[in-house]
Amino acid sequence: MEFEYNLLTSLSSLVFSIVIVIFGRKLLFKLPKLKETYVHNKQENHRKLQSKRDKYSGRLSSSNKIALATNVVFFIGILPFFITFESQSVGTIALHSFLILMVYDFCYYLTHRFLFHGQGYFRKVHGIHHQARTRVSSVDSLLLHPLEVFIGIALFFTVIAVLSLLLSSPFQVATIVITTLIYTQINQINHTRIDLDGCGFPYNLLNWIARSHDAHHITMHKGNYATITLLYDWLFGTLEPVDQPEQLAATAATPASEENSKIAHGVTAA
Ligand SMILES: [Zn+2]
Ligand SMILES: [Zn+2]
Repeated sequence: MEFEYNLLTSLSSLVFSIVIVIFGRKLLFKLPKLKETYVHNKQENHRKLQSKRDKYSGRLSSSNKIALATNVVFFIGILPFFITFESQSVGTIALHSFLILMVYDFCYYLTHRFLFHGQGYFRKVHGIHHQARTRVSSVDSLLLHPLEVFIGIALFFTVIAVLSLLLSSPFQVATIVITTLIYTQINQINHTRIDLDGCGFPYNLLNWIARSHDAHHITMHKGNYATITLLYDWLFGTLEPVDQPEQLAATAATPASEENSKIAHGVTAA
């Protein structure tokens, strides 16, 4: 199968992904519990940016710039060769999406465990991200060394390109949209301050996802290296339990305020 350059298809996948995120967030944040979480997370971001200005200053804008540049190179220079509007069956799209995410997660697991938590230069690079200790909030997803921003995103894109070459087939635009959404949103949830204890499904799942990555942030010696699922941590014996004493202490030190609950439920001060 020949690979043709399809810029319009590539940019379409980007636009679809952005539109789904914007409208999806608008819709989901209408749910009081998620709005409460959004407000509390934002409040935590603000508190950290005020009290630890030196740690965060410069990192956030540099992370955004590197992420933007890496995405521009991928969506204009690389993805157009590996994407198509030609129809593929729902089964094929589901299988391709699963394959991309699982292969990426395995590559990320190895990179995170052996490169970022190894003994060389990249341990220092990753140490910037680990300045964020439990409990993390969304601003911590940008507390990164520029090299780590590039490696994280480039790894995802490389997996897409290599798998497409191995399968001798470009991926359907829906496959790219699905995998991009899952990859970006789970990375975001991993770094969101979520306190939805005792709220039942699906809130307990969000709680567990966020607290699992948060457990990794307790020290540089904790497991939970994977980012999409914790399957590889479970397989290779690096799975960390959630709600460890350090997490519970940090939660108690910065509880969600009653004010958040009022804001989320639309109750304003008289
Ligand atoms: Zn780490
Ligand atoms: Zn993290």
